[in-house]
Amino acid sequence: MVINLSSVYALVGNPNSGKTTLFNEITGSNQHVGNWPGVTVEKKEGYVKLRGADIRVVDLPGLYSLSPCSAEERVARGFLINGKPDVILNVVDATNLERSMYLTLQLAEMGRPMVVALNMTDMLKKRGLDINVKLLEDRLGVPICSISARQVQGIQKFLEIAHRYPNNKYCDNNEKIYSKPVADAIKKIEEIISNGCKGRGIPKRFAAVRLFDDDDEIGNLLHLDDDEKRSINKIMAEAEARYGEHDIIIAEQKYKYIGRLCKECVKRNGKADAPTGSEKIDRVVTNKYVALPLFLSVMALVFYITFGSIGAWMSESLKNIIYDLIVPGFNNMLVRAGVADWAVSLCCDGIFGGVGSIVAFLPQLLLLFLFLSILEDSGYMARAAFLMDKPLNKSGLSGRSFVPLLMGFGCTVSGVMAARTLNSMRERRMTILLTPFLSCSAKMPVYAMISAAFFPKQMAVMVVASLYAVGLAVGAVAAGILQKTLFKKEHTPFLMELPPYRLPTPKTLWRNMSQRVWDFMVRAGTVLLLASVIIWFMREFDFSLHRLPSGYGKDSILAGIGYLLVPILKPLGIGFWQAAVALVTGLIAKEAIVGTLSILYNPAAGTSISAALQQAFTPVSALSFLVFVLLYSPCLAAFSTMRRELHSTKLALGWWLVQSGMAWTAAFIVYQFGTLAANIIRLI
Ligand code: GDP
Ligand code: MG
Repeated sequence: MVINLSSVYALVGNPNSGKTTLFNEITGSNQHVGNWPGVTVEKKEGYVKLRGADIRVVDLPGLYSLSPCSAEERVARGFLINGKPDVILNVVDATNLERSMYLTLQLAEMGRPMVVALNMTDMLKKRGLDINVKLLEDRLGVPICSISARQVQGIQKFLEIAHRYPNNKYCDNNEKIYSKPVADAIKKIEEIISNGCKGRGIPKRFAAVRLFDDDDEIGNLLHLDDDEKRSINKIMAEAEARYGEHDIIIAEQKYKYIGRLCKECVKRNGKADAPTGSEKIDRVVTNKYVALPLFLSVMALVFYITFGSIGAWMSESLKNIIYDLIVPGFNNMLVRAGVADWAVSLCCDGIFGGVGSIVAFLPQLLLLFLFLSILEDSGYMARAAFLMDKPLNKSGLSGRSFVPLLMGFGCTVSGVMAARTLNSMRERRMTILLTPFLSCSAKMPVYAMISAAFFPKQMAVMVVASLYAVGLAVGAVAAGILQKTLFKKEHTPFLMELPPYRLPTPKTLWRNMSQRVWDFMVRAGTVLLLASVIIWFMREFDFSLHRLPSGYGKDSILAGIGYLLVPILKPLGIGFWQAAVALVTGLIAKEAIVGTLSILYNPAAGTSISAALQQAFTPVSALSFLVFVLLYSPCLAAFSTMRRELHSTKLALGWWLVQSGMAWTAAFIVYQFGTLAANIIRLI
């Protein structure tokens, strides 16, 4: 598709102002998600046709100001300066006008054509607010259009305005915002940098104000020479002499102006003082005593439905359909058609076996994403995050990371994908890296099988529970280390606000769900398909590429690889090729460990798999094996999701190694101390 681009529009606004909702509404399905060159911030682009013109719309990361604190803000600011969007679509939350105005004033200083979308106007009445749009328009000097992105109101008109009447004449608010001496100082700085700005295409009003505000990056961008620096410093020193610290003058005067502006333009009618529905609900939901139990119950319910009852039933049924109906049917068909034996095995054991296991996961994922969307869209997630903010702050995360981490108990893939809801890349990456420590549900069968074979019932439950606890503890340690090394806390003001409760609409639910599921299917499907074929091949053939009669034997390539790993696993007490092979197949999918062990230790008639396992493992080496399974690298689907969501192969691979190292160390400690303890007990 060749698109003849006539213009670029940039969607800018505070986080949660509704940019993405508006973006989706404008561009429909015609969008593309990538990332910004050189950095790891997600870039969303889409196209819209307006009166014959093709317009590219870019959804910038949310920001509160143009002072670059985080990677997201830097990206957004960089695009506004260098990307030279033809029109800035400034999305403003009408119910929170005062907060959005700071960014709006800064954007206006850029002197680029801008149109303000006064969003969420459907909420104004309910909040008892009334905005005098005409007056606001007049004061700011930019066109403003009232819209509701969620209820799809006013969007067409807004686009028309952007297309036809963006304010391309420079609107000088300087004298209105700043006191005379400051406005004069800004003018003087502008004169000094005027040429430099022109040459580099940097808006000079914006640059002058930022310089006054001590923004070094702008200074560097302009390559100021010593003379210029001296003159600017002198101008600032004069202003400083009158006001004290100069670096807050700009912000202070802007906020004062905003205060006046909002007083003029926003009217509250009496109703606003009565608590809104949301506030009433919050009195219960965020109540000191109710909040935590309620939250835990909601989560337990979600987990129960997803992984326990309906979801498990749906997955089980789908698995049965795949393995009892489709695969045998397909098998028969191929056999009857006279297809070669190896090809039948490749299709049925290899491809269907591997890919089928991920497809069987789909109903659970669908449910999980549905609940996630509902919780997110209704506004409850923000409350949950709020609740967990304090404890998570200790590990350098914030409350928003809580839900993705929690989802990790279900499936690392969904946890990692849920991390998309996080606004800051730093937090998103840290959350993604920590999710695998929350033992995913696919590891459960491994725990169940091994602990049942080696420990009495009561103790087995304890063993499994402590595995989860060990995962949490190691995760907490890892968080501490990450925070001190790779992810130093960024200096970003963390604003946590509670959006009003809203009834989720089927449309957004569907959009959230379908996109996530599709992403998952495509990625996991392609990777898993390839992996299944490779594993199948390695277990069916020996090194001279002869097909083995019964597969999986000790002559197969897979066993050969197992032998290679034996020396590494020996200090952990699991130095035999079967365990090694099980762990290797576990890299593809954790459930595969159970399958591999059952085939390799195929119990003789009349005995149980437990008895067979007891021949190979001792209780101590079984424990070491479990700890290794708990901590070692996540499955391939999770790894590829992590790589993609981290936007970094290096980081993903590095972490993969770190996890393996941690697993080895932990299992080593368990085995060595366990053996020691067992010997001591025996001596006594
Ligand atoms: P972004 O962070 O700026 O991309 O904001 P989103 O598009 O993700 O929207 C944040 C929340 O506001 C979502 O729950 C939206 O459903 C909601 N929202 C967006 N636009 C409107 C609107 O016009 N009215 C109402 N009531 N809610 C909206
Ligand atoms: Mg967004």
